[in-house]
Amino acid sequence: MTQCRRGKRRRLAPSDCLSLSNSNVGAVSLTQPFSSLAAGRDSHRGLYPWNRKAATQLDPLQRPAPRNANGVSENTTSGKASAGRPHSEVDLAFDPRDFLASDSSIERDVFVLHPNPSGERHVPLLGCPSKNNGVGGDTSTRSFEGAPAAFQQNQMRTGIIGAELDVDPLPDSYFGLLGCRGSHSQPSGHVTQLPDEILRAVFCHLPAVDLYRLRSVCQQWQRVLSDPMFAPWKRRYYRYRKGEGRAVMEMDKILKENNITKDNELCMLNLIRYVSLFQHGRSVNTDAVLNCLQHHPLFKQSKLCMSQTLPDINHAARISSTWAIQAVIVLLSNSVQEIRRLISCLGRPCSTLPATELVEVLYCLATLLFALREKGISISNRIHYNLFYALYLRENPATVSSKQLKHLCSSQESNSWHLRTNASLNPELERILNLETSPHHVIKITGYAGTGKTSLLIEYAWHRPHLRFLYVRPTKPVPEDVAHLFPPNVDFTTMRTKAYQCIGHKYHQKKKLMICGLKPFAVLGSPEGQGSLSRANLISRSLCAFFSSVDEAIGVAHVPGDHRSTCGGIKPMEHHEKLELVEDVKRIWTKMVDLREPSHLMTHDGYLKLWQLSNPNLSQFDVILLDEAEDCSPVIMDIVLSQKCGKLLVGDPHQQICSFKGASEALVEAHRPTLLSLTQSFRFGPEIAYVAATILDVCKRVKDKTLVGGYQDDNTSGRPVGQVAILCRTTAAVFDEAVRIVTSDNPNKIYLIGGLDTFGMDTMLDIQMLMIKETEQAAGLEIRDPLIRLFERRGGFRGLRNYAVQVGDSELEERIAVVEKYGLGLPSLVEKITNQCVNCTTFANVILGTVHKAKGSEFETVQIAEDLIKLPGFQHNPHVLSGFRIDSVPDVNWNLLYIAVTRAKRRLVMSRSLEYLLSFASEYFLKPVLTTNLLGKGLPPKCHISGCLNRIAREAVLTMMKAPSPQYGPNVDGPLCHACTRLRTGPLIHLLASPQLVRTGVRTVMRGRDPP
Ligand SMILES: [Zn+2]
Repeated sequence: MTQCRRGKRRRLAPSDCLSLSNSNVGAVSLTQPFSSLAAGRDSHRGLYPWNRKAATQLDPLQRPAPRNANGVSENTTSGKASAGRPHSEVDLAFDPRDFLASDSSIERDVFVLHPNPSGERHVPLLGCPSKNNGVGGDTSTRSFEGAPAAFQQNQMRTGIIGAELDVDPLPDSYFGLLGCRGSHSQPSGHVTQLPDEILRAVFCHLPAVDLYRLRSVCQQWQRVLSDPMFAPWKRRYYRYRKGEGRAVMEMDKILKENNITKDNELCMLNLIRYVSLFQHGRSVNTDAVLNCLQHHPLFKQSKLCMSQTLPDINHAARISSTWAIQAVIVLLSNSVQEIRRLISCLGRPCSTLPATELVEVLYCLATLLFALREKGISISNRIHYNLFYALYLRENPATVSSKQLKHLCSSQESNSWHLRTNASLNPELERILNLETSPHHVIKITGYAGTGKTSLLIEYAWHRPHLRFLYVRPTKPVPEDVAHLFPPNVDFTTMRTKAYQCIGHKYHQKKKLMICGLKPFAVLGSPEGQGSLSRANLISRSLCAFFSSVDEAIGVAHVPGDHRSTCGGIKPMEHHEKLELVEDVKRIWTKMVDLREPSHLMTHDGYLKLWQLSNPNLSQFDVILLDEAEDCSPVIMDIVLSQKCGKLLVGDPHQQICSFKGASEALVEAHRPTLLSLTQSFRFGPEIAYVAATILDVCKRVKDKTLVGGYQDDNTSGRPVGQVAILCRTTAAVFDEAVRIVTSDNPNKIYLIGGLDTFGMDTMLDIQMLMIKETEQAAGLEIRDPLIRLFERRGGFRGLRNYAVQVGDSELEERIAVVEKYGLGLPSLVEKITNQCVNCTTFANVILGTVHKAKGSEFETVQIAEDLIKLPGFQHNPHVLSGFRIDSVPDVNWNLLYIAVTRAKRRLVMSRSLEYLLSFASEYFLKPVLTTNLLGKGLPPKCHISGCLNRIAREAVLTMMKAPSPQYGPNVDGPLCHACTRLRTGPLIHLLASPQLVRTGVRTVMRGRDPP
């Protein structure tokens, strides 16, 4: 408060400050700056006292009469117009009476002083110049710049400028936060002049990650942010999630002291009691908070629930019951929308609840809910997820959708993001875009599905036109629709292409290049590989292991530890066997490398390995951008990391479907990368994000980072939207689905992901021919596939099947299974499918494919095929699960499920097993409804769970309803009795019914029937 543009400096004595902080005006200005704004009169929002003369003229209890447009009072009590008083007349002394005026009286004045000629109620709005005040309304100004102007007009209307408030003691009434006014050539305020209270109010809106980083900005910020009283729950939440020792101890103590434990069946009620003790600020008006809460759709349910289960709190102090109702609303809500509604209800200016306190209560609840699941208390993880999601959206407001992101990348008019768009970017993306790379520097970005990873790399290059970039994908070529988005300073390719240009082409010229990958049969054809098929298989596996490793020479480490026998059994390899094999492999490799040796062909992976061994130099580039780093083999990772330039590695470890797990990660770790993450997906909204996040939580134990989506209106129940993509695990399942479609009455047009040619229909027909030839001497049938033709003389169909099992060729095994299943009917089915197939997704009704091939794509509706994951039943039925354990399933299976789910944009059709899986996070898609709404004249309705004979309890305030899921036909939604609800919701049942009622609830099961 030292810098003055005009007028005079005013100083506040400590006593002045005290009375200011105790006054309503002073407190409201600090805690509710926006509601204070509505008061309009005071340009300093009560932060600065009015001058005494003005105040003595204006008795706070007797407000001034309306003024005319010139600011002259039409009915002044002093008898003279007060406008245009010289500055020198202003007395700068302080008068406590200045603060007597209440908010409402000021607000009333503003409206009374300026009756709208049309008789309509006029609400002053920021950035909307009023039409009837005659003051220069430059409507072309943008909203932010317009705000001070409109505010100034507001002051003009109230006749303040040049009257009571002649002094403008602060450089800017917005502390420079909103830029400068049109008349100021320079911004006159500065963020360093903000008092601690304002900083605290601003900081509470920021994500926790930023709070840690902002500490290093300056001493004042460090002081504010390190203050233990600043956002204690928000900080505890993130510390607890990271597993920080002290935070864990604190939470353990809180849970224990308040009886929120697994053994205590009333733990949820104790949790609400604990939240009800939350401290609040003096400025909070509980009646106002309750009034605002009433607008929430769950208010009535929560209030009734409180009166039944927590009568002590309901009759206790108002503020306790306010916090408790908030907690109950959070516990009963089952969508992100409902939590956001709660935040917006309480965030209204009239609620008087400061943002800092609202955020703290919600973080307190989030921490407790997270801790409950950590302690093994079985409540749905949906409650915590919804709360976290809503808080995330509140702290990370982004207006860029994935579509816009792609569009922005494709518009090449300017090379700066901010010039190309007014949209604000997600802070996570913004942070990475602002990060500079330097030589040898490695930045590792782990981003969930649909977080805009590729777009980020493209945008990163657009931002730096002076640098030369190399964009690399491990194996797959860059798709057409991505390729045209790159700026001219980016060279995009695959590592294989680079290796071909340097080394591979020589083998191609000598006709020594194998088109397909290394198969045991190729080895078998060479003199050294002669012998059993099993030996050829071992040799090819060893060579493949060597090709993907970073090692310079072939050694025992590349030899498999075991091998399959003809009957499919697994036998371990002895050390001397390994040594012998290494010699064979070395000999074969030497001949493969030798350009003059025609008998041994080179493979794509082989020349890539040779290229890596030649220490390739990519010094023409400043930065290498490596996309899909999760599927990167160590050999490619080594080529990238050995370059001198800066490196950006982007990938999602949960989308890993190749088997190089661990090795590549270790290479990256050795370079001490800067770690960053992207957790917000632009592809879908909260419902699909929840399913994906729960898969990661339950199956892969991902606890520290939660996947969130955007504001989209997506769904996991209801009718499919747009094109439907059915994603399967195996080719056999895709074929089954295709058969189901083409044999229906009104067959849809199908698009096979990856194209009809790569699907292998011809191979299936060849296998079938081999099968026919085995049983009957069919003349004139010719097998086209060279591998399958080989088996005409090597044991026929059975020989082929043995070969597939022995070498572990799962693709071939699947095709054999299809042939065995459909037998002689196969050719006609293949013909039907071929006829229904289209070459372009645009003309297809249904898209079919394996998850492997669908990786990288997105679809409006995704249907999860039953073969993707198989679970025996719900979590609450241990006898059905019979020894099934989540951790016994290999990670790659969960990855496939996660990839499939995250392909959906608007609608996810879940499989039965996926629904079973969600029950492991206590998610049963239940919704609380008022019991009175379910009761008719006769008996209460029956429990909808099949086999249960109970009826719902009249006495309970709330009853859980199963949400409808049309994928399983009609009549799947209905109310649940308390015994069935208890099995599913755990301790949350005590919110619905009194403890006595819960205790008397016994499950009555139909004889001879197992309830699901
Ligand atoms: Zn029941």
